[in-house]
Amino acid sequence: MKHLNSVPSQFSISIPPDETGLIGRECPNPSCERVFKIQPGTGLRGENLPCHCPYCGHEAGQNKFFTKAQVEYAKSVVLNKVTGALIRDLKSLEFNHKPRGAFGIGISMKVSGRPTPLQPCREEDLETEVVCDKCTLRYMIYGVFGFCPDCGVHNSLQILEKNFELIEKLLTIAGTQEASVAQQLIENALEDCVSAFDGFGREACRVFGQNVANSKKAAEIRFQNIKSAAESVNAEFGINLSDAVDPSQWITIQHAFQKRHLLAHKMGVIDEAYQKATGLTSSLVGRRISISKDDIHELMRGLRAIGRHFHESLDTKS
Ligand SMILES: [Zn+2]
Ligand SMILES: [Zn+2]
Repeated sequence: MKHLNSVPSQFSISIPPDETGLIGRECPNPSCERVFKIQPGTGLRGENLPCHCPYCGHEAGQNKFFTKAQVEYAKSVVLNKVTGALIRDLKSLEFNHKPRGAFGIGISMKVSGRPTPLQPCREEDLETEVVCDKCTLRYMIYGVFGFCPDCGVHNSLQILEKNFELIEKLLTIAGTQEASVAQQLIENALEDCVSAFDGFGREACRVFGQNVANSKKAAEIRFQNIKSAAESVNAEFGINLSDAVDPSQWITIQHAFQKRHLLAHKMGVIDEAYQKATGLTSSLVGRRISISKDDIHELMRGLRAIGRHFHESLDTKS
C-alpha cells in the first residue's frame, strides 16, 4: 500500500479561475445562495478578511463561499488521487501463475481501471462586471446593483456614474451629427439621465430603506419626478436632496425632469401643467420644448452632486 499510504490526509486544492481570471463564489445564506465572481488579489489585502454577498449583504469567512461546482471539483480531486494510488498499489500485486502439469490450474490477477476523473469546475456566465471604486476589487454579478464582496460598499452611486459617462459619450456623438439627429440624441440623453437617476434612487432606497421606520414606503419612492421624490426622501429618510445644489440649480433640474415628462408623454409639446410649473408665458403652450447639450451636462452635474449627497447621507445613517 505504498502509494495509498503516501496520500496525505489533508488536501489543499486550488480552485482554477475562469479564462478572464475570475473565481466563482456562492452565498452561504440559505435564503440567497446566489452566485457571483471575484478576481483574487484585486481588492482588499490582509488576513482573514470576510466576504460580503453582493446581493443580500450576508457576511462570512471566505471559506464559506465555495460554489457547488467547486465543492464537486474538490471532491473529485481527492477521489482521483485516492483511486489513482489504490490502482497503482493493486497493480503492484498483479501476478500470473501458469498452469503446471497436465492437471494444473493457472491463476492470475490483472488490475485494470482508471482513477475517478476530475469534475470540471464550470461556473455560470454573469451579467455585470464592476471594479469597486473604493477597494479596486474586480467582481461580476447578475443584474446591475450589488455590494462589493470585499469592502461591502454598495455600487449604486458607481453605476450612476457609469451611466452618466455613457451618456456623455453619446452627447459627443451628437456633436458630429446633422441637426435633427443631434436633437434626437440629446432628447434621448435626457431620458437616459432621468432613467439612470431613477434606477440609482430606487436601488438606494431599497437597500438603505430597510433600516427606516416605514421601509415599504421607502422602497416605493420613484424618481422620475424629482420634486415629489425629494419630498418622499425627506419624509422617509430625513434627507434633503436639494441641499446638494444651489436653489437656482435645483429649479433647473426640476425643469429638466418636467421636460423629460413632456418628451415621454406629450411628444415634447408644452402643456398647461408644464407652463404653470415652470412659470413660462402662456403663449408657449402648444410649442415644442427645446433642450441643448449644455442643458444635459448641467443636469448631470447637478444629479451627480445630489446622488453623492444622498448616498453619503444614507451611508452615515446606516
Ligand atoms: Zn446572499
Ligand atoms: Zn470594494
